[in-house]
Amino acid sequence: MTVINVIIVGSGPAGIGIATLLHQTNIDYAILEKKEIGNSFSEWPENMEMITPSFPSNAFGQMDLNSICEATSPAFSFKKEHLTGKEYAQYLSWVANYFEINVRSNTEVKKVYKKEGGWIIETSQDLFFCRYLIWAAGEFLNPQINNILGAEHCLHSSQIKYPSKVKDGEFVVIGGYESGVQMAYDLIKGNKNVTLVNPFKVDDMETSDPSRILSPYTYSKYSQMKKSEQYTEVLGEVVAVTNDNDRFQVLLQDGATIETDNIPICATGFSLVSEPIEEFILYREDGSPILNEETDEFIDQQNIYLSGPSVRHDNHIFCFIYKFRQRFGVIVEDILKKEECSEEDLSYLVNKWKRAGLYLSDLSCCGDECVC
Ligand SMILES: Cc1cc2nc3c(=O)[nH]c(=O)nc-3n(C[C@H](O)[C@H](O)[C@H](O)COP(=O)(O)OP(=O)(O)OC[C@H]3O[C@@H](n4cnc5c(N)ncnc54)[C@H](O)[C@@H]3O)c2cc1C
Repeated sequence: MTVINVIIVGSGPAGIGIATLLHQTNIDYAILEKKEIGNSFSEWPENMEMITPSFPSNAFGQMDLNSICEATSPAFSFKKEHLTGKEYAQYLSWVANYFEINVRSNTEVKKVYKKEGGWIIETSQDLFFCRYLIWAAGEFLNPQINNILGAEHCLHSSQIKYPSKVKDGEFVVIGGYESGVQMAYDLIKGNKNVTLVNPFKVDDMETSDPSRILSPYTYSKYSQMKKSEQYTEVLGEVVAVTNDNDRFQVLLQDGATIETDNIPICATGFSLVSEPIEEFILYREDGSPILNEETDEFIDQQNIYLSGPSVRHDNHIFCFIYKFRQRFGVIVEDILKKEECSEEDLSYLVNKWKRAGLYLSDLSCCGDECVC
């Protein structure tokens, strides 16, 4: 059994980002990655780009929205604002190579067991033992089609890697958030007819938080798409999908039915990849894990932390990189305290991470709307 003090599961932005902070300490760590660095991003559909724009603002004390560590900027590296999944995966690899982050690729975590003083981790390769476990397995590999009867008659949007290459005809896209609008937009660009079934009116959302409304980037695509004659929007909630006589029937809560020749596409979101650690998680009503607000440990557990887009505290949703990276420092600080790091070293590191936007402990100031 390989013994390592800290094990991080997953080499996406959360895993690699936390590792760059651990790299600044003398704590030994390793990342276990199911496939290769940035695997989720490599799996993104062909036309999908980051919706959060990148801009090289580091020299003025503001990190690029998509950076995961100081002094790096995907915008600067790629000379563009909206990176594709493959480009972002490349950025993560460059960061990992530069810091010589210890990533064990092709090592899938199958099951985690609690053991006196730490965690036993069973993988597709070896057994590991660690004192601290940081779960950064993301959401992309766990697409969700919840609350729709007959979900087996649908495809999830993440399964359609090449929207421009699907056969001609009419398509029904279920869900009008980022992925749904992107999918409908790509299909219309490929000259298909699309009906988007949306449970809410896009323009009715009164908040500035892009975790709750369409990002400006996707909204501009939505505005263009709305002008197309090939686009229809239906306000309503899908309750069931059936498949009769080679046609699909999409049934809405208000009793209406939409018929289509092509398999309906559900852009109904993702949730935390959690199977190997399921027994250690308690959930909030909204389905996200309950976490210790001070450390991001799973509630009622110790030394098992969550990093990434599933982090929630009260009404705060940390689903974007520029949000969840602010909790990297909180996790590593807790580990350093438990490892009896000196006050002086701890305060030096925490101040450094705070300045960089990689440490946010006081959540009372988050969530206020801007006045404009
Ligand atoms: C379609 C989509 C578009 C998005 N666009 C943006 C955007 O533009 N900007 C933004 O800020 N955020 C965006 N997000 C939010 C997004 O979830 C995060 O930005 C990011 O992918 C989350 O990073 P992560 O490191 O937590 O997870 P991931 O990037 O998903 O990385 C998780 C890693 O864990 C590995 N893994 C999973 N299970 C195991 C296992 N059992 N054992 C070992 N390894 C495992 C995976 O292979 C993967 O490499 C988007 C999300 C989605 C789903």
